[in-house]
Amino acid sequence: MSLLVDNIGELVTNDPAYQDPPLGRLHDAAVVVEDRQVAWLGPAGDAPAADERLDAEGAAVLPGFVDSHSHIVFAGDRGSEFAARMAGEPYTGGGILTTVEATRAAGDDTLRATAVRLRAEALRQGTTTLEVKSGYGLSVADEARCLHLAFEVSPESTFLGAHVVPPEYAQRPDDYVALVCGEMLDAAEPYARWVDVFCERGAFDADQSRAVLAAGAAKGLGLRVHANQLSAGPGVQLAVELGAASADHCTHLTSADVDALAGSSTVATLLPGAEFSTRSPYPDARRLIEAGVTVALATDCNPGTSYTSSMPWCVAQAVREMRMTPAEAVWAATAGGARALRREDVGVLRTGARADLLVLDAPSYLHLAYRPGVPLVQQIIHNGVLT
Ligand SMILES: [Zn+2]
Repeated sequence: MSLLVDNIGELVTNDPAYQDPPLGRLHDAAVVVEDRQVAWLGPAGDAPAADERLDAEGAAVLPGFVDSHSHIVFAGDRGSEFAARMAGEPYTGGGILTTVEATRAAGDDTLRATAVRLRAEALRQGTTTLEVKSGYGLSVADEARCLHLAFEVSPESTFLGAHVVPPEYAQRPDDYVALVCGEMLDAAEPYARWVDVFCERGAFDADQSRAVLAAGAAKGLGLRVHANQLSAGPGVQLAVELGAASADHCTHLTSADVDALAGSSTVATLLPGAEFSTRSPYPDARRLIEAGVTVALATDCNPGTSYTSSMPWCVAQAVREMRMTPAEAVWAATAGGARALRREDVGVLRTGARADLLVLDAPSYLHLAYRPGVPLVQQIIHNGVLT
């Protein structure tokens, strides 16, 4: 069964083969979807016949969003913590343990229901590829079941046993690192594509982070790092040194950090929801882009510090608060996320790419930032299927 998406006013391809970088836009275009892939795209008048036709009525169409950073396997609610921060209390990172306690106490069905609900919520807003981390179990059994649940909702699943040191290991953090690198990794690895570590003062230092990443790499997992969120630290340099796919947050960077990222294949993934929700200074996206760093945008969806699943909202935040142009922000939320996951089949529309397309209730991608908070994603083709 083939599907012709016709009468597209503005088609964002992210394909550098077209003019108009970075978005590679075509006007008056059409796309043919077959066997879950883009089979053809080009001028509307040249489109081949297909079994079914979807009339985009002149609207904008773009690749599905690639959200490369989320923590949606959890239990509990931290709305009161958010309210306290908005009343003036600073974020210190300690609230993660509140979620760990609730997650450990929750049954699989409760955790699964939340993960499935949030995955569906993200999809409704156009997220067709979503990375999902563990990291609220922090015991061998709880990390294994959280990873299993993450893998149920997404193949882009990440082992984050090194999120924080749980209370029972507070006096012997190196023993916890050994557990993460050994038995916990063994239990999680069958369900994980990636390993991640929160490299930050109060979480894991450079040596501990290096040990976790090296152990994951030895098991064949790709590397990601929570880096330089709360303070300048070793996370970015470590990510680059070890060839991580992504250094996430990148809020506090030295010139050496920016240079290291610019000379590497490590993507800087910016998470404006975290700065919004903790009322913190936003990362300097302009400095990164002007240095030639590849930038991605992601939600960081988690119950403590960024409880949003909305990529369109992140695009609007990035434009307003981080001075990205709308084109840069939309590219970062699609092609940038794909780079951060080392995927070439998503975040782009060209022949052979996975058929993940969004039809907007708007004539241009610009409206994603111009009309913040408005549900503009009208129709979604996810993996070749019109949802
Ligand atoms: Zn995170």
